[in-house]
Amino acid sequence: MTFASLGLIDPIVQTLVSLDYTTPTAVQEQAIPAVLAGKDVMAAAQTGTGKTAGFALPLLQRLVKKTSKVSPNSARALVLVPTRELAEQVHESFKAYGAGLLLRTMVAYGGVSINPQMMNLRKGVDVLVATPGRLLDLHRQNAVTFGEVQTLVLDEADRMLDLGFSKELDQVFAALPKKRQTLLFSATFSDQIRAMANRLLREPVRIEA
Ligand code: AMP
Repeated sequence: MTFASLGLIDPIVQTLVSLDYTTPTAVQEQAIPAVLAGKDVMAAAQTGTGKTAGFALPLLQRLVKKTSKVSPNSARALVLVPTRELAEQVHESFKAYGAGLLLRTMVAYGGVSINPQMMNLRKGVDVLVATPGRLLDLHRQNAVTFGEVQTLVLDEADRMLDLGFSKELDQVFAALPKKRQTLLFSATFSDQIRAMANRLLREPVRIEA
């Protein structure tokens, strides 16, 4: 199996060559075609399985293919993560995978000044990687609106619930467009995660890595 045969376009495949990614991992083989097709995904995937590229690569490609320009203070894709460390890491991955694609990617988390984040959101972003609490703060201050969000990714959903972000997540979900693509990644599937998945996902492709 190759990345090209999964449907990824040449500029992305070339970036992967330069990163020495020769073969897709199991989660990538399953996630990439599903996300490219616009489907919802529910994936059981631990860290180290290549899950980040599994959602980031097809998400970037969809954003490139749809030529619509992002409006000020908008985001076209939201990636929610439990911690600032993971936020930085996922943001770095988006930057690496999106090299040369001319998309704007930004990261926002709490514990640091909100003002630079508000400034950065003014022009709008294609991909916003954020922790739930800071994302809500930014939303409350109208630094980011959700009307243009096409794709929502929940990364390490189980850890977000373990860290007590359930209420913040519900507030974000309530503010998002109903018509969107949702990708849920979690290492474990508790009853609470299953209930969240049932509420959020429409006919999801189920992935086990
Ligand atoms: P993740 O599970 O997303 O945290 O990724 C684990 C590590 O595997 C990261 O350092 C990635 O850069 C790397 N990686 C992801 N996919 C591939 C691949 N297809 N080939 C080689 N390395 C990969």
